[in-house]
Amino acid sequence: MDKKRRDFLKVAGISTLAGLGGTAVVDKIVAGASPAVANASTAAHAEKDTAHAKAPVAATGKRYGMVIDVRKFQNDPSLGEKAERACIEAHNIPEFPEKKDEIKWIWMTNYENCFPEKSQLYKDETTESHQVPVFCNHCDDPPCVRACPTKATFKNKDGVVIMDFHRCIGCRFCMAACPYGMRSFNWRNPRPFIKETNKQFPTRMRGVVEKCNFCAERIGVGEQPACVEACGESKAMVFGDLNDPHSEVRKILKENYTIQRKPSLGTHPSVFYIV
Ligand code: SF4
Ligand code: SF4
Ligand code: SF4
Repeated sequence: MDKKRRDFLKVAGISTLAGLGGTAVVDKIVAGASPAVANASTAAHAEKDTAHAKAPVAATGKRYGMVIDVRKFQNDPSLGEKAERACIEAHNIPEFPEKKDEIKWIWMTNYENCFPEKSQLYKDETTESHQVPVFCNHCDDPPCVRACPTKATFKNKDGVVIMDFHRCIGCRFCMAACPYGMRSFNWRNPRPFIKETNKQFPTRMRGVVEKCNFCAERIGVGEQPACVEACGESKAMVFGDLNDPHSEVRKILKENYTIQRKPSLGTHPSVFYIV
C-alpha cells in the first residue's frame, strides 16, 4: 500500500475498514461501513412529508446531522461565501476556470432548486430571494451507497456518508443515484487547480467522484465542521447528534419548524432547514 493511500486512510478514518487497525479516535470517526446499510433494500418507498419525524434506521450510535437557518444566510450573504471557502480550503477542492469542470461540496442555490416540492407559483418575495446552502444530506437511507459497486461510498455508524477515494473506479453510478446532485466528478486532474494544499487531507485524481464528508476528519477529533465554524456565532449552521435528545440540533428541531429536501423520496436526509 503506497504512502498516499495510507495517508488518505488515516485522514478519512477508514483504516478499520481497510484492515489496518487504527487509533481509537479514527475508529470512533468512521467505524466502517454498515453491512446493513450497504445491502439495504433498493425499494425506497415514497413517503409524504414525514421524513422529519422518521426515526433513525439503526440505533447503533450517533447520527450526525445539521440544521441550517436560511434566514440568517439571507440576513448576512457573506456567510455562504465563508462556508464555501472554508470547505474548499479544508478539503483541497480544486477551483477550475471553466464551469463544466466544477467540483462542488457546498454551494448556494435558490429556494426553488433546493426545495422543488415546496415550490409555489406565487411565492412571497422573501422566500423567492432566499439563497440556500446545499451539500450532501448524509441521507439515513442513501441511494448512493446502494449504487456503489466497490463500496467506495459507505455510511459509517455515525450516519456519515463518506468515500474512500482510492476505491472509486469512476463509474458514476452514485451520481446517477443521488437525487440531489450533490456529487462531482473529476474530469480533469484536480491537483494543479488547488490554490493552497491542506496536507492533512488527501487530494484526488482524475476519474474520481467526491462530495461533502460532513468533515469526518474534524468531528472525529472533536472539532466542528469547517463550514459551521466559518459561520461562527451566527449559528446559521448547527451540527450535532440527532440521536442525542439533549443535543443542540435536537433542541433547535424541537423549537422550530424545519423542512428537508425532497422528503417524498424516502432518503431521510440528515440536513434540516429553517426557512
Ligand atoms: S445527498 Fe446524495 S450523495 Fe449525499 S447521502 Fe444522499 S444520496 Fe448520497
Ligand atoms: S463513481 Fe466511485 S463512489 Fe461512485 S459508484 Fe462508482 S465507484 Fe462508487
Ligand atoms: S460539513 Fe464539511 S465537508 Fe460538508 S460542506 Fe461543510 S465544510 Fe464541507
